[in-house]
Amino acid sequence: LVSRENHPERTVVHVGGVPIGPGTMTLIAGPCAVETPDQTLQAALMAQRSGATLLRGGAYKPRTSPYAFQGLGAAGLKILADVRAETGMPVVTEVVDARDVELVAQYADMLQIGTRNTQNFALLQAAGEAGKPVMLKRGMSGTIEEWLMSAEYIAQRGNLDIVLCERGIRTFEKATRNTLDISAVPVAQRLSHLPVIVDPSHSGGRRDLVLPLTAAAIAVGADGVIIDVHPHPESALCDGPQALVDTDLEELAALVRTL
Ligand code: PEP
Repeated sequence: LVSRENHPERTVVHVGGVPIGPGTMTLIAGPCAVETPDQTLQAALMAQRSGATLLRGGAYKPRTSPYAFQGLGAAGLKILADVRAETGMPVVTEVVDARDVELVAQYADMLQIGTRNTQNFALLQAAGEAGKPVMLKRGMSGTIEEWLMSAEYIAQRGNLDIVLCERGIRTFEKATRNTLDISAVPVAQRLSHLPVIVDPSHSGGRRDLVLPLTAAAIAVGADGVIIDVHPHPESALCDGPQALVDTDLEELAALVRTL
């Protein structure tokens, strides 16, 4: 269903009216995690000033350590809905458990499936039935073929509004958090008709790499990027070192405009 063989035209996915697909470089930005109403609103306004048209933000955070901040859950979803009402930005947010899909879909404009859940097939199927577009991250140790098969699980349930997101994979290299597999973008675009975006924040894991990796994403023809921003990264409850601040965002906006 997601293969380009039977569907040569590349798909445009609309998220709350915002297109992602051929001819777009959709900027999705916002905090890694929803922490407070004010932090989320500030991050959304920063994102919007830099040209972002979709707001990201995690209410459910899949953390490596069970002692790390796990997200605000349903309270975070309400904050995202309030910030959408204030800014007009449609919301992209992660769902980590099949039992939460219905609730998250009530608030989200797009469901995000994270790298740790790319092969959580029950979650993929539930997301496929939720009636909302789905952003599917690539598994950190997953091949491109496995990623596309995961998309197939969603599509099988009648939902073809799927956006693939390359977010870096595990390699032997330790200088970056993950290795951005930039070649995955044109490869996936040739194999599948679905839009392919890049997450330069979670791949590099470092603020100073976000702009160069965004430039790489633009150069290979990605259909968008998803970027972490935070008004006070030094006190962020999640992934502060990779979050962009206001001064970076002007540069980011200029970079995206070069398209
Ligand atoms: C995220 O985007 O918030 C996230 C946790 O990303 P990933 O699943 O790629 O680690």
